[in-house]
Amino acid sequence: MKLLEYEGKEVFERYGIPMLPRCGVIRIGDNPDKLNIDGRGPWVVKAQVLAGGRGKAGGVKLAKTASEARELAGKMLGMKITTHQTQGKALTVEEVLVEHAAPIEREIYISVVLDRKAGSPAIIASAEGGMSIEELARTNPEKIIKISVDAEAGLLDFQARQLAFDLRIPQNNFREFTAFAKALVKVFVENDASLVEVNPLVISKDGRLLAIDSKIVTDDNALFRHKDQAARPDHEASEIEKEAKAIGINYIGLDGDIGCMVNGAGLAMATLDTVKMAGGDAANFLDVGGGANVEQVTKAFQIILKDPKVKAVLVNIFGGIMKCDNIAAGVVEASKKVRIKVPLIVRLEGTNVKEGKAILAGSGLKLEQADSLWEAAQKAVAAAKR
Ligand code: GDP
Ligand code: MN
Repeated sequence: MKLLEYEGKEVFERYGIPMLPRCGVIRIGDNPDKLNIDGRGPWVVKAQVLAGGRGKAGGVKLAKTASEARELAGKMLGMKITTHQTQGKALTVEEVLVEHAAPIEREIYISVVLDRKAGSPAIIASAEGGMSIEELARTNPEKIIKISVDAEAGLLDFQARQLAFDLRIPQNNFREFTAFAKALVKVFVENDASLVEVNPLVISKDGRLLAIDSKIVTDDNALFRHKDQAARPDHEASEIEKEAKAIGINYIGLDGDIGCMVNGAGLAMATLDTVKMAGGDAANFLDVGGGANVEQVTKAFQIILKDPKVKAVLVNIFGGIMKCDNIAAGVVEASKKVRIKVPLIVRLEGTNVKEGKAILAGSGLKLEQADSLWEAAQKAVAAAKR
């Protein structure tokens, strides 16, 4: 799960990470007057979207006066943002954060990532922050510092000090920095994160150490032990994805036009690959789960057909615990409840496959059957093109 900047900063707050005071967040429909902008400026107005590079895309604006900050915030709501991290798609700004701004002296990059090879967290840092770290890794890899961290012990004192020296942290901010770096590792470990990034960490002109930005990605598999995370909206999920999740179906929307209904995540991935090999593109990844009963199959059809891009549906189910004849009966039953207006291709395999195929053939349903996945994929691709 990816957290928006302000959500990440709320987590940072609990760990005592130094930040600029926030004036509030407004969302579409809110009046900017609701923002608690007082004291002395300047302020910074920031689009809350799940992508970096907002600065260049007009999603980070400085305001000298409170009325300017409110005006900018109001204008930013609803704006479309495209950055180098949005894969060519525009994101709509649904929330805007306003906080106090600081005059920046230096920008530093620091993150905690999961080093899968070492089986531990690692700190990635660079004295040259602010810019794209991917770009820096390409052009000046020697400027990137990497420290392996023990997840149990956290960042050790000597490691934190070494890091402070390597990043040329000023004497005055030294202790603050080592405490910050340790806290960042704690955020990572205690929240089951796969990424915690501060880009930039700033030394302000008046000598303060400040986390200006936040990026936190947590591991969905650990959601059960984080009530605060589970209560958060999933900003990345589409409406259909949220609906599927609520009824226990694993669904991820994709860009193609062939709707796929499969049992088992491995078989679902193999199905996507095979559709691609046959010259088509899947409209979704869908794993109906182990049960594949009438109810689940019906729901899965409903979910798949909600996507208007779908021009054909490919059902690829392996009858293991659920026998093929039961699955076929389920498909027949489901198609009575859901009007399937696009071509339907079914490939069954496994226990009682003969009986299953006979049920489909005798059902009077308009569908094509296939013996192999390859044949099914080719038929689906041809059907979607018709
Ligand atoms: P990102 O581009 O999406 O990663 O957004 P950031 O939050 O990192 O902000 C981008 C840039 O805006 C930073 O690198 C800064 O140069 C600038 N910026 C953000 N907040 C402030 C601030 O409080 N004061 C000043 N002077 N600049 C800021
Ligand atoms: Mn940033």
